[in-house]
Amino acid sequence: MTALRILIVEDETVLAEVVRDYLIAEGMGVDVLSEGTDAVATALTGQHDLLILDLMLPGVDGLTICRELRRTSDVPIIMTTAKVEEIDRLFGLGLGADDYLCKPYSPRELVARVQAILRRSARSREATAPDTTGLQMDAERWQAALDGKPLDLTRREFMLVQVLAHRPGRVFSRDELLTLAFPDDAEVFDRTIDSHIRKIAAVSDTDPIRSVYGVGYAYDD
Ligand code: CA
Repeated sequence: MTALRILIVEDETVLAEVVRDYLIAEGMGVDVLSEGTDAVATALTGQHDLLILDLMLPGVDGLTICRELRRTSDVPIIMTTAKVEEIDRLFGLGLGADDYLCKPYSPRELVARVQAILRRSARSREATAPDTTGLQMDAERWQAALDGKPLDLTRREFMLVQVLAHRPGRVFSRDELLTLAFPDDAEVFDRTIDSHIRKIAAVSDTDPIRSVYGVGYAYDD
């Protein structure tokens, strides 16, 4: 299985380590580069779901890295900078970063933004993905249908299906599902996920979610 993987490009090594530990605690995989030289090549391997990119870096700076990446890649990017006055300028440049954060920032705040962006990009992939599964999801009404038959889902069940179905075949661990579907919901636990999945199976004729023993769940591709 593939965990969500974040690339941190940050020359302040202590900060990079703190952020890395916070992300790992959320069940994500993390790679760290302490200078900009290899950042573009590393990001273009396509192994990362999001980049945390500092502006001022030895080697190649964050601005150049962001511009270079945006020619061919739409990987989500959070840019960080030590100068609050830089943020407006960066916005104005239309770099195509997904978010900007000023230092010093709280690692919690950064993690919250990472999760928000991963959720957003999961949804936009869902919106643009070709419908090969017979699944229709209406995120405004929290309504889903499979092969034309409405599924009677709660809001939580809807969010689970949404996360699973945006990457059919990809196996998600329970931790990843907790992070991606319920980032702000302290009342959802591993076992809650299992019972939601059972309910989804019960309301659909062709149970679309596959249980992968010891790992988690995948939407059938
Ligand atoms: Ca720096």
